[in-house]
Amino acid sequence: MTNEPRTFDYPVRGAKSCPVCGQSSYSKDGIHPQCAVQLADESRKEKLQAARKATQTGEPKQKSWNKQCPLCKAQLHVRRKECDCGHVFRQTKSSV
Ligand SMILES: [Zn+2]
Ligand SMILES: [Zn+2]
Repeated sequence: MTNEPRTFDYPVRGAKSCPVCGQSSYSKDGIHPQCAVQLADESRKEKLQAARKATQTGEPKQKSWNKQCPLCKAQLHVRRKECDCGHVFRQTKSSV
């Protein structure tokens, strides 16, 4: 008997390689279940980080460009000199 049993495993034809770890996978989707979980987790993390980033470096609320009318509490653009209610904003460029 000269035939030695091949104990080492080699990539089976048709087997897909896992996109995560690069190892051949026999699962239907070609990705190991645990790798799929890892991938999902990573994408979730990325999304979380992206969302966090967006909130951190996100545009400042337009609050700075608005001023509130003391009479009707309406939000007006800072450049507006008059409110719809008739309130006139004083120009406070220089101290009186
Ligand atoms: Zn894998
Ligand atoms: Zn007003």
